[in-house]
Amino acid sequence: MNADLALQKLIEGNQRYVSATTDGAELTTTIKRASADEGQKPFAVILGCSDSRVPAELVFHRGLGDLFVVRVAGNIAAPSQIGSIEFACQNFGTELVVVLGHSHCGAIKATVDALISDPESISPNVASIVDRVTPAVLPVVAKQEHADHSDLIHNAMRANVEHSVMNLQLRSPELRNLIDEGKLKIIGAEYSIETGVVDFYGDD
Ligand SMILES: [Zn+2]
Repeated sequence: MNADLALQKLIEGNQRYVSATTDGAELTTTIKRASADEGQKPFAVILGCSDSRVPAELVFHRGLGDLFVVRVAGNIAAPSQIGSIEFACQNFGTELVVVLGHSHCGAIKATVDALISDPESISPNVASIVDRVTPAVLPVVAKQEHADHSDLIHNAMRANVEHSVMNLQLRSPELRNLIDEGKLKIIGAEYSIETGVVDFYGDD
């Protein structure tokens, strides 16, 4: 399935989720039981946050085998995430990757707050996440430190999504090749916890 068709399916799935035209029963009847013989053929890869309020399959109203989902706090693109996405795109021919940020992201807030005020002490493992978010968020904080806090967090979240998109494009020759061959699109998007709506960047 090409990237444009895959994106259309995600948009339509999110519309079903937002409008609550289904209680989920429809989803369970349309899901495909995974077969070891048939393998998998996910039509989109989602790099999303671990936040419990943003499960990709639910917000896009998709079933088993539809989405290859990589979740990590702050939807960062560290080597293991990039490797997971390379694996999916190369082995399953998936042509769309969506980096999905969201409102009220704890990883973004922690990073912004650490830049503005004295950081709380965090473990080295948590710091490895904050350190990946910081380069994306730093220019936003430098420019808008005195802006409204919720605006600042939103702009930082968006910058972090765009930073992950860029990292996927620049740090993986394999993904780059697929993009150059017209076999892959990588786009950013954000999920609103308040409304349930996914807004795709550059989708106009
Ligand atoms: Zn988050």
